[in-house]
Amino acid sequence: MNVLVTGGAGYIGSHAAKALIEAGHRVSIIDNLERGHAAAVHPQAHFQKLDLRETQALTGLLQQQAIDCVMHFAALAYVGESVQQPLRYYDNNTAGSLSLMKAMADANVPRMVFSSTCATYGIPQTMPIVETMPQRPINPYGWSKLFVERMLADQAAAVPEFAFTALRYFNVAGCAADGSLGEDHDPETHLIPVMLEAALGKREQVSIFGEDYPTPDGTCIRDYIHVEDLVDAHILAMEALKDGDARFYNLGIGRGYSVRQMVDAARAVTGVNFAITTGPRRPGDPPELYANADLIQRELGFKPRYTDIERIIETAWQWFKTHPDGYAATTR
Ligand code: UDP
Repeated sequence: MNVLVTGGAGYIGSHAAKALIEAGHRVSIIDNLERGHAAAVHPQAHFQKLDLRETQALTGLLQQQAIDCVMHFAALAYVGESVQQPLRYYDNNTAGSLSLMKAMADANVPRMVFSSTCATYGIPQTMPIVETMPQRPINPYGWSKLFVERMLADQAAAVPEFAFTALRYFNVAGCAADGSLGEDHDPETHLIPVMLEAALGKREQVSIFGEDYPTPDGTCIRDYIHVEDLVDAHILAMEALKDGDARFYNLGIGRGYSVRQMVDAARAVTGVNFAITTGPRRPGDPPELYANADLIQRELGFKPRYTDIERIIETAWQWFKTHPDGYAATTR
């Protein structure tokens, strides 16, 4: 298929482009390069520097490249930043997706796989999370994505040949096992990269954001899924789409790890006893989030290859050790 990957210079989008090309698809990428890296753009993909909000240019690209399906990753994705700058999130994530959907409608592109988030659930009453639970986000990031789910559902109800799958990600982690792609955010706030930077001596310590949560060891619990498993699920979702489909799946491995357990795992993988401190809770952090991932396994036959947290961290450690400055030193 001809697939447009939005945000294809970003962490997840770049891994998706690689997997699609390896599976024999023809890939076009757009990215505004605000947070993405030109060096992460796959050399075999057609690349255009474009912002989601440039509707007309997008329509032209969709037509010119004869796109069959859009994998839509481009988004701002920091919860804390979304609380500080909500309009920026609604503009980029929600209005940007609206612009993309308009371009798809104008160019008659009938399929989308959308990068949604477990942040759309807010603080669920019970764990694990199943897809039918109420969605009540507790931050603008979650809302900005939930609005897109809604727009997609309404569009699928209105246009018989349109179809989409929204994948509600849990915590995406790890790097390409062949070492070709990695994770390079600025600022870096995610737990695994922060720990690996500490192991490399680039940070003095790792602050644990709260040890007084109602969990067994007092720290937050999250469900970490390897980025290569995650992008495989996108390809399965794309290939399964049929006219009129409106699908929603949780995408995690269905098991939670506490921040303390993550610290132990990262220390074991790196062999570095990096320093930790206890900091205050981070606003907007639910105590516990992990998926019931049965639906996607049952309906799409998805099976994660990485179920062991140390193996996931190992793939990230390979990248961080060999790219201590991220993509800065990489040219393509
Ligand atoms: N976390 C932490 N210290 C850090 C970064 C993250 O204790 O320096 C915790 C955070 O509170 C959350 C978990 O690690 O419970 C995962 O956070 P991350 O930012 O990686 O992903 P999120 O769950 O926010 O999507």
